[in-house]
Amino acid sequence: MKREVFYPPVGIAHVTNKLSDLILYKYNGQKKIIINTSAQPNSSPHLGTITTLMTAFALASKIRDDLKVETEVQFDELENSPAETIEYNGEIYYKDQRHSFIEQETKEQVNMQRFKEILEKLSVSANVPYSIRSYNEFQNNRYVRRAIINIINDKEYFKELLFPSASDLHIRTICPVCGLGKKTIKKLEEKHNQNEMTLKGFCPTHGLYEINITEENQEYVDINTQFRDLTKGVAMLEEDKANNTLTIMLDGGDWSGVWAQRMHTEGLVRLGFTEFPIRFFAPVILDWSGAKFSKSLYLKNEAYKDINRAFINYDNFIECYSDKGIDTLWKEVKSWIDEPKKFFRNYSVDYFQEIMGENNHE
Ligand SMILES: [Zn+2]
Repeated sequence: MKREVFYPPVGIAHVTNKLSDLILYKYNGQKKIIINTSAQPNSSPHLGTITTLMTAFALASKIRDDLKVETEVQFDELENSPAETIEYNGEIYYKDQRHSFIEQETKEQVNMQRFKEILEKLSVSANVPYSIRSYNEFQNNRYVRRAIINIINDKEYFKELLFPSASDLHIRTICPVCGLGKKTIKKLEEKHNQNEMTLKGFCPTHGLYEINITEENQEYVDINTQFRDLTKGVAMLEEDKANNTLTIMLDGGDWSGVWAQRMHTEGLVRLGFTEFPIRFFAPVILDWSGAKFSKSLYLKNEAYKDINRAFINYDNFIECYSDKGIDTLWKEVKSWIDEPKKFFRNYSVDYFQEIMGENNHE
């Protein structure tokens, strides 16, 4: 028997009739509304990643219909995430998804195949176009590079704001020959002035190297999550102004709250901004105890032995439920977008078991 689902009137859902009402205060006829979301292509996506991608497309489709405006999903691919670590002389080094291989292919290529397949399907279902921006393209963005230089020029403040418990800012570079980077940063070795920053690095195979970052050049710089969240906001605001677009950030609900206010909004204030991007957060998929259903936990510890294997990754999901299962999931996520009370809340793995239950072909 189906259990009853409750939707208590809480927070913003209590005062909002439809999600697009939350956009009106910043929408003044811009030519396009872009929904930006991101993921690390470090494995076949699990249920939570799939529902967040679906949320982006469902939102883009709903906003297009409600406001009669062109919309698009922009997917930020985070191929700079570590794919393997190597120890050398007591220090931990890493290679990212682009420099780590499975036979002849990079892990980025292997895992992005699944992401592209999902993006393609959703684009058709929602009738919304999408674009993919790699991290490599992102770090080349002049507004991102300008923001990194501005942050390093205000180092003491940003160290406390963005790295409350770390000894220094986390900006990295990787060996220009083989892509190996140092994982732990105790003391950032850099020189900077108002217009540029030079980072020093060491590769066990290729020796010492230096990279120079200016607003205009393209030497590779790797920044961690806090930095990326903040500089993405900067680039978004600047590009929206230049292109007459309105970009909305859509992330999983675990990035809301203290993170969003402190790392993002307070960071933007310090960088001189008085306007901020609209941010929406997709419902989080929770395990039985109320914790986020986590891909990294699964990959590291073989957690979730009791959870439906279809929820662990996309390949299993398709094997188990086929494309019909994707349709069921899509219908569910679309229903969240139709009613704020269904959007501003989280859902458990049990709940998904119930809605997928009838389609289980195992
Ligand atoms: Zn090297």
